Amino acid sequence: MSDHPIVIAGGGIGGLAAALTLHQVGVESVVLEAVREMRPLGVGVNLQPNAVRELYDLGIEESELAQLGIAAQEWALVGLNGSEIYSEPRGRLAGYRWPQFAVHRGKLQMLLYEKVLQRLGPGAVQLGARVTGYRVTSDEAVTALVAHADGSASELHGRLLIGADGIHSVVRAQMHPDQPPIHWGGKMMWRGVTWGRPIRTGSSFVGLGTHEHRIVFYPISQPDPRTGLSMINWIAEVALSDSDDRRLSGWFRQVPVDSFLHRFAHWRWDWLDVPALIAGAQSAFENPMIDRDPVETWVCGPVGLLGDAAHAMYPTGSNGASQAIVDARVLGAAICEHGVSSRALASYDAKLCGPISKLILRNRSEGPFGLLNIVDERCGGVFDRIDDVIPSWERAAFMADYRAAAGFALEALNSAPPILPAGARVARAPSLSATSG
Ligand SMILES: Cc1cc2nc3c(=O)[nH]c(=O)nc-3n(C[C@H](O)[C@H](O)[C@H](O)COP(=O)(O)OP(=O)(O)OC[C@H]3O[C@@H](n4cnc5c(N)ncnc54)[C@H](O)[C@@H]3O)c2cc1C
Repeated sequence: MSDHPIVIAGGGIGGLAAALTLHQVGVESVVLEAVREMRPLGVGVNLQPNAVRELYDLGIEESELAQLGIAAQEWALVGLNGSEIYSEPRGRLAGYRWPQFAVHRGKLQMLLYEKVLQRLGPGAVQLGARVTGYRVTSDEAVTALVAHADGSASELHGRLLIGADGIHSVVRAQMHPDQPPIHWGGKMMWRGVTWGRPIRTGSSFVGLGTHEHRIVFYPISQPDPRTGLSMINWIAEVALSDSDDRRLSGWFRQVPVDSFLHRFAHWRWDWLDVPALIAGAQSAFENPMIDRDPVETWVCGPVGLLGDAAHAMYPTGSNGASQAIVDARVLGAAICEHGVSSRALASYDAKLCGPISKLILRNRSEGPFGLLNIVDERCGGVFDRIDDVIPSWERAAFMADYRAAAGFALEALNSAPPILPAGARVARAPSLSATSG
C-alpha cells in the first residue's frame, strides 16, 4: 500500500495536466490509469488560447505544440450552397497573446505523459490500474480502490482523490449515485483523418451544412513540404431519429467509412469533395453526441472531479480538452492558497462548477454552431445573401457571447492575470511521505 498526498484517477489530458500542475506547485501525486499501455489514441482536438497559455505556464514550449499540430488561423461556417455564413480569425491573428492549436489528441496526451514521467519520475503513472471506487475516512483522507490488469487489487491512501476518469467516470458515479444516465443529443458523429490539401487560410476550421447534417474539418498537421498535403481531421455529423442504446455505449468505436459515406454522397463543390475526404480515411470512429447533465457540485469532502468526469460536453465548442487543462490549473491555484485540503477542493468547485455547467447546456444548444440553427430557422438553410438572413453584427455578437462563456473572450483573456503566478508554491507543504509496502 502506498501513500501520496493526491491520487488522480485517469491519465487523460485532464489527469496528466493536473499531475504536472501539482508538481509545479510542490505537491506530489500519483496517476492511476486503466489502460495497460499509453498509446496515441483519438484524432483532432482544439486547444483554445486560454489552454495554450496554461500549457506555456507549465513549461511546454510553442515548438513542442507545433509538433503535435498546427496553429489555427480561422473559424468559418459555410452553408449548403457553399457560401460563407460567418468567419473570424483565430489565435494570434485575432489578437490573442497566445495561439490556438489544432492538434492530434493522442500526441498531446503522449507529450503530457512523457513530461509527467520526466518531472515526477517513472512511478508517477501506474498503468493497468483501474479505480473501482473510494472510501472517505475523514475530510482529509480518502482511499482509492484499485483493480490491476494482472487481476490483483489494492488500496491507495491520499489526502485527496481527483476523479479525472472521463465521461464514464467511476468516481463521479459514486459521488452522484442518482445521476441520470448519459444524455444523447440525437446525433451521431463519425471522426477520421485524411491526407488532403488544406483550404482557405491553410489552417481553417470549417463547419459546412446545417445544424442537423454537417461536416466539420480542419488540418492538424503542417503541410508536408514535398506534397503540400496536411492531415485533415474531419467530423461528419447527422441527426438520427432513433435512440439506439447500443450506439450510446459506443465511444470512439472503429467503423468502416462505407457505413455512413452514403449520407454525404452528393456533397461536392468545386472547392471541396466531401465523399473523397471521407473515403480517404481507412476507417473512422463512431462517436455519439453525448454529454452528462450538470451536477450541483464536483466535490464531496476530499474527492473532486476534473475534466470530462466533471463536465463531459458536446464537442460543438471545441473546448473539452481546453477546459480540462484550465480545471487542472484552477485546482493547482486553490491548493496553493488552501493547502492540500478539502477546502481547496471547495474553492475550486466554487470557481468552476457553476459557469462550466452553464457551458455544458450551451454546447447542447450547439455552442458556436448555434448560428446554423438561426440560419435554418430563418431560411431553412437556403440563402442568396447571408446579410439578408442574419446581419453581420448579429453573427459577430453571437460568437463574442460564446467566447466569453467559454473563457476565451479576447480582451478578458489578454488582460487576465495568470491562474497560477510564476513560482507559486503550495502554502503548507504536505507532510505525507510516499512510502511503499
Ligand atoms: C481514447 C480516447 C480518444 C479520444 N479522442 C478524442 C478525439 O479524437 N477528439 C476529441 O475532441 N476528444 C477525444 N477524446 C475526449 C477528450 O480527450 C476529452 O474530452 C478531453 O481531452 C478531456 O480529457 P479528460 O482527461 O477529462 O478525459 P479523457 O480524455 O476521457 O481521459 C480519461 C482517462 O481516464 C482513464 N480512465 C477511465 N476510467 C478509469 C478508471 N476507472 N480508473 C483509471 N483510469 C480510468 C481513461 O483510460 C483515460 O485515459 C478522446 C477520449 C479518449 C479516452
